Amino acid sequence: MKKSKYSLKFIIYLTVAAIAAVLIIYLSLTKIQTGSQSPVKVQRESYRLGTIVRITLYGNDGVKLDKALGGAMDEIERLENLLSVNIASSDVSLVNRASGNYPVKVSEETGFLIGKALEWSKRTGGAFDPTVGGIVKLWGIGTKKAGIPEPVLLQQALSLTDFRKVLVIHEKSGTFIKTAKGQRIDLGGIAKGYVTDKVKELLVKEGVSSALIDLGGNIAVMGSSPKSGKWKLGLQHPFMPRGEYFGIAEVSDVSVVTSGPYERYFELDGVKYHHIFDPTTGYPSQSDLNSVTIISENSTDADALSTALFVMGLDKSVSFLHKLKNIEAVLVAKKPQGTIVYVTQNFRKAFVLKDPDMKIETALQ
Ligand code: ADP
Ligand code: MG
Repeated sequence: MKKSKYSLKFIIYLTVAAIAAVLIIYLSLTKIQTGSQSPVKVQRESYRLGTIVRITLYGNDGVKLDKALGGAMDEIERLENLLSVNIASSDVSLVNRASGNYPVKVSEETGFLIGKALEWSKRTGGAFDPTVGGIVKLWGIGTKKAGIPEPVLLQQALSLTDFRKVLVIHEKSGTFIKTAKGQRIDLGGIAKGYVTDKVKELLVKEGVSSALIDLGGNIAVMGSSPKSGKWKLGLQHPFMPRGEYFGIAEVSDVSVVTSGPYERYFELDGVKYHHIFDPTTGYPSQSDLNSVTIISENSTDADALSTALFVMGLDKSVSFLHKLKNIEAVLVAKKPQGTIVYVTQNFRKAFVLKDPDMKIETALQ
């Protein structure tokens, strides 16, 4: 028998070499296409705005991401210094210290945000009201002084709660805020949303295209997740410890904001007193909702709405949501037939219920 020109060994070598060459060409081509090795992740965490803020950025250039992250953290600090009631030199503290005796010059940003807060107050019929400051202070929820206020004092704070009495005055020399005498402004229900929007704006300017901004549950995602395209955000279970989720929101390029009575409260004689107040009673809102999640491109709006809808309760929230455009919601309510999750029609496909004891009953809208 005639011996083959090439030995078997040589043929195997040739095949392996050919496969390796194809593989190398393929890998270098995909590298060129994506312009990347594995994506870089940078993350920082800090205690700001009365909560833990955590920002995570993804991309190819670690140095660029680090710079953007530093800028984002500085931006949060800068805005906290303007908007916090707990910082004596903030714009809001200056307004509160003036106590309605004279108009106070504030930064353009503070003026804008107070204007936004008043706009949502009007649209929600006062369910959202930044002049709840006096009530918030008396209850002191989340502080060492938390307790049920003296009825006389509460009555007084309640009579001063009226967003219609706040003026935002734009003059050539700047923006001024004038409250009624004795009023106190508190932006706790909207500031985190605004800060989130500003951080997002900054990150876009810095060329960041994939990010998760988490200001204590007030979340915004940018671009797509490095893992799966959509970001999978767990929604805090209202009756379970922190970190337990009742459902997952699969989203991209939006803000997801949740409000609930479980966030901040104190307990006395078996009763829980939480931090979202009904501006008509001065007491923690006796809402039939256990959790309100708003999904919107704009985080400022989502933050104001999550607080407002909680105060409005299920029925009013449902009819209000009909009137809003580009706002999606997930509401949790305890009903005689069990715990029900209401999801707006357009968001139904993006929401995955995880708790088998809850039921999605109605798609809103
Ligand atoms: P969280 O601060 O837990 O994210 P929210 O966004 O719902 O929750 O805001 C609650 C905060 O908003 C309170 O701590 C208080 O500062 C303020 N607040 C409470 N009740 C109201 C209300 N009815 N309207 C506007 N702000 C409110
Ligand atoms: Mg809010």
